[in-house]
Amino acid sequence: MRCDVAVVGGGPVGCFTAANMSRSVHKVVLEEHERVGVPEQCAGLIAPRVVEMGKANAAIINRIDGAVIHFPSGREMRLKGEETKAYVVDRRRFDESCLDQALANGAECLTGHRFLHLRRTATGMVLRLEDGKEMTARLAIGADGYRSRLGQEAGLSPPREYVRGIQVDLERSMEDQQAVDVWLGREIAPGFFAWRIPCGDRTRVGLCVADGTPSAYLKRLIKLAGHENDKRVRLYSGIVPIGMVRSTVADNVMIVGDAAGQVKPISGGGLYPGLTAAGMAGKVASDALEADDLSTNYLRRYEKAWKAELGKGLDRGYRVRKAFLRMDDDALDLAGRLMDTEEARGVLSKGDIDHPTAIARDLLGAAPGLMRFAPQLLASMFSR
Ligand SMILES: Cc1cc2nc3c(=O)[nH]c(=O)nc-3n(C[C@H](O)[C@H](O)[C@H](O)COP(=O)(O)OP(=O)(O)OC[C@H]3O[C@@H](n4cnc5c(N)ncnc54)[C@H](O)[C@@H]3O)c2cc1C
Repeated sequence: MRCDVAVVGGGPVGCFTAANMSRSVHKVVLEEHERVGVPEQCAGLIAPRVVEMGKANAAIINRIDGAVIHFPSGREMRLKGEETKAYVVDRRRFDESCLDQALANGAECLTGHRFLHLRRTATGMVLRLEDGKEMTARLAIGADGYRSRLGQEAGLSPPREYVRGIQVDLERSMEDQQAVDVWLGREIAPGFFAWRIPCGDRTRVGLCVADGTPSAYLKRLIKLAGHENDKRVRLYSGIVPIGMVRSTVADNVMIVGDAAGQVKPISGGGLYPGLTAAGMAGKVASDALEADDLSTNYLRRYEKAWKAELGKGLDRGYRVRKAFLRMDDDALDLAGRLMDTEEARGVLSKGDIDHPTAIARDLLGAAPGLMRFAPQLLASMFSR
């Protein structure tokens, strides 16, 4: 097998990368599973702009405009936006829609093909697959998720840390179909948070943790949220990489999406940053082939582009996460009290899930007491 670009990983980011290359580029997506979109490992909560990117209106299950935040003491803070903040999507259908875009752009997708090793030759890369077959490509793109084998084989560093997630779909319809619940606290979800998402006839309950066994925390959450007697329809688990990879290119190689740690560190959402970077990766790949220059130096155009667009937000998110990790339950409760004013709730309700730190300055204005949790960080990042 021979092609211009081999994209390892047929997740949304790999497919979207192929969809954004020039039509004339011979591109092949390699996916280890027999089908794209399975197994699902996602809560499926994305902003309207991401539904548009994926051309995935058919995947929408629900529309979300509010949230109830549960603090460790039991305090509940209700937020309600004026417009749609997020959609809940069927991730399998979302991924299939990204694949359709790639196929419409002339990509081939080889499912049931697992990439194992990378070898450099004078003209490009040879990718060795699990079944012993080899594929020759001028450029290899790793969109193969948090454990990127292609990134490892190319000598690129992995994301900085990981959190482990688990969630279950329950046969229960929530009364309020437009609000998600979020639980905070070390007893609930140490190092991250827990969620409940209304999905019409079903309800999705899950969490991510930085320490401990996710299933044990999920069991407690189900009890706490009063779902012990609800029938469990589907259980999912997965890993979220946190902390962007600094170097995402090498000679004849690029990495993108979870493989590059392009995930929002506060929420674990990877579809917005991954697809944004994928659009850039596809364009630079096409330009590099056209220029017949696949050197690290040329491919850095991709790295510069995605860092210019996403780097500041991801970096701020990572630093806020570090401050969050230092907060014990008492500190989280205090933060909850400080933010539970009409003005601060108004600021929080205006937030954009893809740019969570963009409201930080206004939030500090509404609740200046928050400054105590990370004075230097907040002063350096957000002071007027
Ligand atoms: C519990 C949980 C909840 C989440 N909720 C949300 C959410 O609500 N919103 C959001 O935006 N994000 C969410 N995410 C994150 C989101 O799922 C990821 O950021 C997103 O899937 C990244 O896409 P990707 O294409 O980079 O990687 P992946 O979706 O991981 O796709 C990588 C693909 O590569 C394939 N692959 C891997 N290795 C090889 C190999 N060697 N050879 C061939 N193929 C290979 C894999 O099988 C997979 O299909 C969640 C994640 C988890 C774990």
